[in-house]
Amino acid sequence: MLFAYTYVPHAMEKMQAFIDFIFFEVWCKAPGNGGFRLELFDGNAELKELMEVFYYGDTRGGDFFYRHVERIYGLFSALTPPQIDQIKQWYQANNDIEKICANDPAVQIARYADIKAIHPDLSDQLASFFKELYSQRLLDLAALRKKIGQIDEHYQAFMQVNTIGKCPFCGLGDIKGVHHSKREAYDHYLPKALYPFNSINFRNLAPACHECNSTYKLSKDPVHNAYGRRKAFYPYATSSHGIDITIDLGTPDIDRLAPADIQLTFGPAAVHEEIKTWKEVYGIEERYKAKCCGSDAKNWLEEVRILRDTRGMAPAAWLATVQQQTEKTPVANSNFLKKAFLEGCQRAGLFDVIAKEGATP
Ligand SMILES: [Zn+2]
Repeated sequence: MLFAYTYVPHAMEKMQAFIDFIFFEVWCKAPGNGGFRLELFDGNAELKELMEVFYYGDTRGGDFFYRHVERIYGLFSALTPPQIDQIKQWYQANNDIEKICANDPAVQIARYADIKAIHPDLSDQLASFFKELYSQRLLDLAALRKKIGQIDEHYQAFMQVNTIGKCPFCGLGDIKGVHHSKREAYDHYLPKALYPFNSINFRNLAPACHECNSTYKLSKDPVHNAYGRRKAFYPYATSSHGIDITIDLGTPDIDRLAPADIQLTFGPAAVHEEIKTWKEVYGIEERYKAKCCGSDAKNWLEEVRILRDTRGMAPAAWLATVQQQTEKTPVANSNFLKKAFLEGCQRAGLFDVIAKEGATP
């Protein structure tokens, strides 16, 4: 990805704290602890209050939440201590998104398929519960909303800090910010259809542009492919890694430029595995090549001609300006791609042609 988001703490994280309590203090302690009852939540007054509202109320969302917590408690009751230990370890691992992205060998993650191998019913119930936790019918529950707020409030707070306004996964798409009344969808970076326990972890949730989220990534798994585990960029990384892109053009005929004429090279080598994953998950090569064959790229060259004619500016001098702009704001106006494209044009001899055209009366 082109840049990382800054993580923004918010009241909605309380939901994760509720789920942590339910998991460690209620479910994992179920064997030998008697039947399901509200006293099990005595250690967390706010959660207990919610469970009481859900139990005595008659909302579908509240009923869904209460019944699932109860049903899963029943299934945990029958697990052996080694099984409980295993599931606890998976819960912790699946929530350490940064280490998962780094493919840290100490972090053994689990997918629903792994839980199914122990207990098919448990896998189904956990999936049904965790996939629904941020559904509208739950977030619309007044009692829950009072405690954790709304996802739109999280988005506003998030965008007050993350102000670049572009999608970090492609650098091309706009991301709605504080001046919009609508918002982007949050992508479950590790898909909620595959991974239990982290569907409401905000370190696994990242706003992405529609193209990235709904056209290219879909439910692709960034940390696992057909061959096994792999590294992926962590959306909330605190140490930044700029991505270098070089574009080589196999032809100077820009009007008939086709994707096959374009060669993209990505760096730095230190993150080559993350880059490979990123390119595959978000269709990066296809999208960047298409952009270079489209009207934006033709306009980048037209700009060179206009500046030549109106200001007498040499193409290389304009490129120096674009390089400065890219240094300062790499994703504004697709600068990172524009710079790489113009450098490719220069190497393909196009700048000489443009300069000569200008010199001919
Ligand atoms: Zn995007």
